[in-house]
Amino acid sequence: MTSRRTRPAQLTAVVSVALVMLTAAALGGTATAQPRQSTPALDRPEPIYSEQVEAQTVLGVRRIGTSVDDRPIRAYHLGDRDAKTTAVVLGSMHGNEKAGITVVDALRDGKPITGVDLWVIPTMNPDGVAASTRGNSRGVDLNRNFRHSWAPLTGSYYSGTGPFSEPESRAFKRFVNRVDPKFIVSFHQPLYGVGKAGERRPFVRKLSRGLGLPIKAFNCTGECHGTMTSWFNANHTGTAVTVEFGSSPSRTYLRGKAAAGTLAAVGGGH
Ligand SMILES: [Zn+2]
Repeated sequence: MTSRRTRPAQLTAVVSVALVMLTAAALGGTATAQPRQSTPALDRPEPIYSEQVEAQTVLGVRRIGTSVDDRPIRAYHLGDRDAKTTAVVLGSMHGNEKAGITVVDALRDGKPITGVDLWVIPTMNPDGVAASTRGNSRGVDLNRNFRHSWAPLTGSYYSGTGPFSEPESRAFKRFVNRVDPKFIVSFHQPLYGVGKAGERRPFVRKLSRGLGLPIKAFNCTGECHGTMTSWFNANHTGTAVTVEFGSSPSRTYLRGKAAAGTLAAVGGGH
């Protein structure tokens, strides 16, 4: 309508704008009183993860990036921001492996956390979670999109057009570079084990014991190119470990033993 050049149309446009402004002004009080999370992006019908947060446990929420399909990627700040140890727990990188989201939800919605400066990211691949696909909405396996030993891979391990070609892996990289955690726990399925991570064996052993999963050397199908953990371990002093649940762990286990075991392994408690 505003592109028309006739005088009546212009008048109509002006009146419309004025009306919109008046309406906006009238609604202003209500609009600003809304919590910040009530953005259109969050009002999508699919419940990707619980939005109920317990104020005492959650210190803050940060939108660390946006997916290809414009979904927010969020990090929740939990625990004690003055603690010496900072840790990041990633619930889901592959959208068809959702068990870790339940663990992250349990930590975020549970009792206040002490002893660790903890960030939890329910998923870095919200489009994949919404569609239950391994890759993001462009079919890229985000765990082959990091720079370390990146190689052009096709099929279900499609690694993208280049290292960090995807907004999701860039968002995670930016965030982790800023936070520089001592520990990263990255949840996957269904290989049932805790990945060997070279140094910091006590951390791996604690995770294994706490989660009741054996320590395993996960060999990528084909070769390991562009994985998040190898990128982090090559570029940071901290340690990133892959944790693989089985194909269908129980909710009781995930919210109970797995959440408590993860928290204890990164030095936290309640
Ligand atoms: Zn995976």
